[in-house]
Amino acid sequence: MKAKQHIMTDLFDFLDHSPTSYQAAEQIEKRLVRCGFQKLIEKEIWKLEPCHKYFVSRNQSSIIAFIVGSKNIQDSGFHLIGAHTDSPSLKLKTFSEKRIKSYIRIGVEVYGGPIISTWIDRDLSIAGRIMVWKNNQYESIPVDLKEPLAIIPNAAIHLNREINSGFEYNKQTHLPVLIQVSDKNTDQSVLLNLLARHLKVKPDQIGEYDLFLYDVDPARYLGMKNEFFSSGRLDDLSMCHSILSAMTDIDSPTSTAVGMFYDNEEIGSMTRMGAASGFLRNILERIVYSQSSKKETFSIAMANSFFISADMAHALHPNYIEKHDEAYAPLMNGGPVIKQNANFKYATTAESSAYFEQLCKKVKVPCQKFVGRSDMLSGSTIGPTVSSSLSIPAVDVGNPMLAMHSIRETAGVEDHVSMIKVFREFLK
Ligand code: ZN
Repeated sequence: MKAKQHIMTDLFDFLDHSPTSYQAAEQIEKRLVRCGFQKLIEKEIWKLEPCHKYFVSRNQSSIIAFIVGSKNIQDSGFHLIGAHTDSPSLKLKTFSEKRIKSYIRIGVEVYGGPIISTWIDRDLSIAGRIMVWKNNQYESIPVDLKEPLAIIPNAAIHLNREINSGFEYNKQTHLPVLIQVSDKNTDQSVLLNLLARHLKVKPDQIGEYDLFLYDVDPARYLGMKNEFFSSGRLDDLSMCHSILSAMTDIDSPTSTAVGMFYDNEEIGSMTRMGAASGFLRNILERIVYSQSSKKETFSIAMANSFFISADMAHALHPNYIEKHDEAYAPLMNGGPVIKQNANFKYATTAESSAYFEQLCKKVKVPCQKFVGRSDMLSGSTIGPTVSSSLSIPAVDVGNPMLAMHSIRETAGVEDHVSMIKVFREFLK
């Protein structure tokens, strides 16, 4: 396994180049190809070979990668780990550019559940994908403008005296993002012109788009001993990176190793490229039936499989101790966290928890537990969705972090390295 420094440099590079799920998928694809994974197209017939490495992409924002196991699929099953490529953010409304006096603003929709106040007064850029008219058809092109171009300014405290005593931002009126101040009163769209210049096309070639705002502040170490790191989108790109690092560090696994990188977890996964879709089942079926045409082989392979749902966890917050059940207080750099919930918001059972603990013991990594307060609602993950639809035993895990869904999140360096060790052990 690579050294800590090397892993963290690669993680920061991954985070900085993945402002939206489209760029995250691009980054994942780039790294997979570099490590010998072959791209498969869903519309084509596949010819799969044992120990060969493959991946499939959907909507340019979800990816499923796999290495066909060396043993037969019926007995060895699948070892799966899944995370999500999307993060809560603000999405630009298409063609909603408006002028007020000399100000040019664009309206936004809230995607998922961000802590909205953290998006105010930040240096924001724009990324996502755009449909561009080329050779008599629309082509979908990922785009990242990279530069700080936009801001959602607060009202001065003199204009909003109650801001420090609990202020609710109105999503329609307070969040339109400011992109220019200009005296020129033209009909031309500032954003379309900017995008056209960036893509080296004419403004009228640009069609619909999925564009999001993001904070341009890069990932960096933090703390007296650089023991933490902070960045946007740690939930859940750091788990995507852990899976990717483990997947690209193994060869010839016994069981078929599968890494899932899903879009749309933050809005409930009910999309064609989300965890609730048939994306995974289709791929698993194609792998099984490439080895055996018997119907029951698939069910037996599922029964011999195990799934790790990897999504970040809440570390104990020292300023909000009362928000935690004190018996379950995961600490940053205390090791990966197993998440449990009596109502199965997480897929973990006593049996699957024990299995993950065993993996941690094997690679000498400490492991922590999380159960939320009984008087508070639990978060959820792709764990129960995937586990129930495919009847695969599963555990929900993640690394402890602070400020989940803030524009800037914080996690521990040791935990990131530890999680890769555990995933590698599981997949190999
Ligand atoms: Zn998450």
